[in-house]
Amino acid sequence: MKQIVLASGNKGKLKEFSEMFNQFNIEMLPQSQFNVGDVAETGTTFVENAIIKARHAAAITNMPAIADDSGLEVDVLEGAPGIYSARYSGEGAKEQDNYLKLLNALEGKTDRQARFQCVLVYMRHAKDPSPIICQASWEGTIALAPQGEQGHGYDPIFIPEQQSCTAAQLTAEQKNAVSHRGKALEKLLELMKQQGVLN
Ligand code: IMP
Repeated sequence: MKQIVLASGNKGKLKEFSEMFNQFNIEMLPQSQFNVGDVAETGTTFVENAIIKARHAAAITNMPAIADDSGLEVDVLEGAPGIYSARYSGEGAKEQDNYLKLLNALEGKTDRQARFQCVLVYMRHAKDPSPIICQASWEGTIALAPQGEQGHGYDPIFIPEQQSCTAAQLTAEQKNAVSHRGKALEKLLELMKQQGVLN
């Protein structure tokens, strides 16, 4: 059985990726199993940071690696919090502090257009000069106040397009069917099939 290391410490992501890749007889292993720690995300774009994480995991494990990088972009804030979404209100920030800071930054603003972005990278090995890269987004607007208990991160303040509730009021199934990560994962599987990594 082919194995791929997932460059993330997030258990939810491991489950989500494992479910998608099991059907292709591929086992996803968390990088923690190889004592791979977090690497500094020094890029200025989602793509750069995803590549940094995948390369780091592939280099230490000598295995192919997949990494993702995601975040929320708000147009009127020139794309902030963007790659800093997880640490918007400081290193190790609480999710609630992050979205309250964002609501504060948008106080009085009428343009509340935003989107989640997700980039996925597959590297065959640490020196792979042409990793498989794909990106997907989920368009929406920022609510005036938080609502809902599901999901994580900025979900309580994100109203997806064509919805009248926040992402935190959708079930996991509803969200996965349309979200940035769900769509990016589908694209990645398609490209991996085209390039003969999956069959
Ligand atoms: P990560 O790179 O997937 O860990 O995500 C970076 C940050 O972006 C998270 O800590 C969240 O704050 C935010 N984020 C990414 N995807 C989502 C989502 O689907 N819902 C809410 N917040 C998200």
